[in-house]
Amino acid sequence: MSDCLFCKIAAGEIPSKKVYEDDQVLAFCDIDPQAPTHFLVIPKTHIGSCGEISSENSAVVAHAFEVIAKVARDLGVTDFRVVSNCGPQAGQSVPHLHFHVLAGRDMTWPPG
Ligand code: AMP
Repeated sequence: MSDCLFCKIAAGEIPSKKVYEDDQVLAFCDIDPQAPTHFLVIPKTHIGSCGEISSENSAVVAHAFEVIAKVARDLGVTDFRVVSNCGPQAGQSVPHLHFHVLAGRDMTWPPG
């Protein structure tokens, strides 16, 4: 999508602090970190949110979770939280599927 912030980051049109990249996904540091480790994993193809995952596009979601585990291992992180906000009421501000990976501090439950 031409006006999507994360599509532009995936295409390299907007800079990001990359922690992992391959042909399917990009992982990069959140610009406003909520924990000592906070990176985002996005599919390079545009999927609006978890609500748009289907049998047609779920392979990239499975791959994103492999990447989450790999990047966590590479960073030496064993305890972490994965969050994906779906829709404005749930806190989604960027309408391109992304998984937050947060680590390095105690987490509370339930999230706010
Ligand atoms: P959400 O609010 O769940 O949709 O998450 C969007 C996340 O994207 C927020 O945590 C923002 O801090 C982050 N964000 C927004 N713009 C950028 C950017 N240019 N580079 C990195 N992270 C960003």
